[in-house]
Amino acid sequence: MRLSHPVHGSLLPPGVCYTCDVCGKLLSTKLTLKRHKEQQHFQPLNKAVCALCHKVFRTLNSLNNHKSIYHRRQK
Ligand SMILES: [Zn+2]
Ligand SMILES: [Zn+2]
Repeated sequence: MRLSHPVHGSLLPPGVCYTCDVCGKLLSTKLTLKRHKEQQHFQPLNKAVCALCHKVFRTLNSLNNHKSIYHRRQK
């Protein structure tokens, strides 16, 4: 009867407390997790994204401008 044996791959390395919920990467601090997500999984929150070509714009205005230029309905 084996009471304890090392389990590989299921335990977090010491010092690692945070896991990226997007890609599963292990981070040691909340700050590095935050930074990782900002760098790797940056998602514009207050930005406008074109639904047609997924281009990101700083403002809704520029999105509308883009749409009127690139996705203008042609009859
Ligand atoms: Zn990640
Ligand atoms: Zn577009």
